[in-house]
Amino acid sequence: MIQHDVVIVGAGLAGMRCALEACKELDVAVLTKVYPSRSHSGAAQGGIAASLGNVEPDSWEEHMYDTIKGGDFLNDQDAVEEYVKAAPRVIYELEHMGCIFSRTSDGKIAQRSFGGHSKPRACFSADRTGHAILHALHEQLMKNAKSVKIYNEWYMHSLIVDGDRCNGVVVSNVQTGEVEVLQAKAVVFATGGYGRVFKITSNAFASTADGVMAAFDVGLPLEDPEFVQFHPSGLYRQGILFSEAARGEGGYLLNGNGERFMEKYAPSRMELAPRDIVARAEQSEINAGRGVNGEDCIHLDLRHLGEARIMERLPQIRQLGIDFIGVDCITDCLPIQPTAHYSMGGIPTDKHCHVIRDEKGTRMNGFFAAGECACVSVHGGNRLGTNSLLEAVVFGERAGRSALEYAVGIDYGNVNEGQEKAKVLEKLEDVYQRDGSESYNDIRNEMKEVMMTHCGVFRDEEKLKICIETLKGLQERFKKGKVTDKGKLFNTEIYEVLELGNMLGMALIIASAALERKESRGGHFRTDFAIRDDANFLHHSMVFNSPEGPVIKKKSVVITKHQPAERTY
Ligand SMILES: Cc1cc2nc3c(=O)[nH]c(=O)nc-3n(C[C@H](O)[C@H](O)[C@H](O)COP(=O)(O)OP(=O)(O)OC[C@H]3O[C@@H](n4cnc5c(N)ncnc54)[C@H](O)[C@@H]3O)c2cc1C
Repeated sequence: MIQHDVVIVGAGLAGMRCALEACKELDVAVLTKVYPSRSHSGAAQGGIAASLGNVEPDSWEEHMYDTIKGGDFLNDQDAVEEYVKAAPRVIYELEHMGCIFSRTSDGKIAQRSFGGHSKPRACFSADRTGHAILHALHEQLMKNAKSVKIYNEWYMHSLIVDGDRCNGVVVSNVQTGEVEVLQAKAVVFATGGYGRVFKITSNAFASTADGVMAAFDVGLPLEDPEFVQFHPSGLYRQGILFSEAARGEGGYLLNGNGERFMEKYAPSRMELAPRDIVARAEQSEINAGRGVNGEDCIHLDLRHLGEARIMERLPQIRQLGIDFIGVDCITDCLPIQPTAHYSMGGIPTDKHCHVIRDEKGTRMNGFFAAGECACVSVHGGNRLGTNSLLEAVVFGERAGRSALEYAVGIDYGNVNEGQEKAKVLEKLEDVYQRDGSESYNDIRNEMKEVMMTHCGVFRDEEKLKICIETLKGLQERFKKGKVTDKGKLFNTEIYEVLELGNMLGMALIIASAALERKESRGGHFRTDFAIRDDANFLHHSMVFNSPEGPVIKKKSVVITKHQPAERTY
C-alpha cells in the first residue's frame, strides 16, 4: 500500500498552494487526472481580487461588503472577513514566487474593475491570469520535489473512511489501468467545479464532479448545490469564455436593436453589475425576442476600446474570437450568451477547511477541502469575478496548514487494502462488461440539454420536476450503456463513463436543491418565487444521500457585520 502523510487530490491553484504549505513539514502527494498545468485554473483569464489600492484607495472592509452584497447575503461573514484580509498578502507572495502581473505606469501591480466590485481590485496578467499563477505554483512544487510527489494522470475513484475518520483514497493509474490504495493521515480535496453538467459551459472537460460525488457517496452532505453561476459572456453556442475583463476594460453589451440594455437592469453599474444580474438581463432580452438577428445571443462590443488597448489587455479574447468564429473584436462585435461557469456550492467546510459532516458543523477527521469543490461559504449565492482565484489560493494554503497540523504526530488509521481495492475493482468490472443498447454520448447530451433548459438561468417548479424525472430516467439508462474499449492501458472511455455517472448524480442534487429553494437569491432564480425570502430561506442547503434520493436540511448563515439589505445596483 502506498503511504503519504498528506494526499491532495487536484493540482489546480487550490491543490498546488495546499501542497506548498503541507510539504513544509510532511511528505505530500498530489494526485491529478490531468497534467497539473492543464487544470481548469489555467483557463482563468480576468484576474485575482485584492484591496491593494494601487489604482484607487481601497480597503478590506469594502472588499468584504462587495462580496457579501454580491453573494445576496448568503455568505458566511466570518470566513469572508478572514479571506479578504488575507488577499493583499497572498498576492505579494505570488509575486515573490515569480508570478508575472501586469503593471501600472509607475511599476505597481495593475488593477482593473470587475462586476460587483466598487473599486478596481482585480490584479491580472493581461487576460491569462490563471495561467500565470498556475505555472508559478507548479515551478515552486518542482523546487520542492523532494517532499512532494506528483501523480500525473491518476484518477481518484473513492474515499476510504472508517467511522468519522478519512484514511485515504482508491485510485487508478490511467496509463496502466492498475488500481492502487493510497493511505494517508490527511486527505485534501481540491477537485474543482462541475460546470460540465450543463450544455453551454466555460468549464474544462475535467470539471465533472468526481470529488464532490466521492464525498457524497461516503455519506457526507453537499452545501448549496443549487447555486450555479452563469457567466454573461460565453461564446454563442459553445460557451467558451470571453472574460469579464472585457467589460472591466469598458466593453458594452448590446441587444438586437443595438441598445445598451443594462441601463434598464442595473443603471448605476451597467455592464459591471454582478454576473447573476447581467446573465438574467441578457436572457430576458433574448426571451423577449431582442437577441441579435433573432437568435439566442447578444453582442459584446469592444470596438471603441481600440486596437492598442485590446492588444495590451485582452489579447487572448481577441485570439479566441478569431480562432473559433473568425470574428476580430477590434472591428466586429462578438456574439455571446450566458454560460455555466462556477459552482458556488460544494463539500461543506468550516473556515479552517475541515470538511463538516452535518448541519451543526461536526468535523470529519482527516478530511479537508479547498477551492471550487468546497463550500466555505465565502461566495454565498453568487460569486464576484476574480474572487475565485483568490479563494483557491487563500483556502488552498489554509487547507495545507490545517492538514499539516492534523497529521503531525498522529498514526495512520485503519485501512483494509484488499477490501477497498475489491470495491473499486468490482465497480470497474461492471463498467467494463457493459454491453447494452444505450449510448453514453446520448445520455450525456440529454443530461446537459435538460439542465440547461430546465435548471438554468431561469427555473420554476414545473421545469424542475420535469428535469428531475428526466435525470432519473437517464440514471436508469446509464446502467444499460455500452463500453467498446475493453483494454486497460489509457482507457479514457472508462473514465468518461465514470465521470458521466458522477455528473448524473450531481445534476440530480442540483435540481433537487433548486426545487426545494422556493425563492430567488443570487444565481438561483425561480420565476414562480421571484423575490428573495429571508424569512424562510436565509439558510444554506445541506443535501444528504438517502435510499429515496437527496434529502435537504438547513444550516444557518453566519452574519457578523452586515445585516441582509435590499440588493440594488
Ligand atoms: C474559463 C474560466 C475563466 C475563469 N476566470 C477566472 C478569473 O479570471 N478569476 C477568478 O477568480 N476565477 C476565474 N475562474 C474560476 C476559477 O478559475 C476556478 O474556480 C478555480 O481556478 C478553481 O481552482 P481549483 O484549484 O479549485 O480547481 P481546478 O483548477 O479546476 O483543478 C481541479 C483539479 O482536480 C483534479 N481532479 C478532479 N477530479 C479528479 C479525479 N477524479 N482524480 C484525480 N484528479 C482529479 C484535476 O485534474 C485538476 O487538477 C474561471 C473559470 C473558468 C472556467
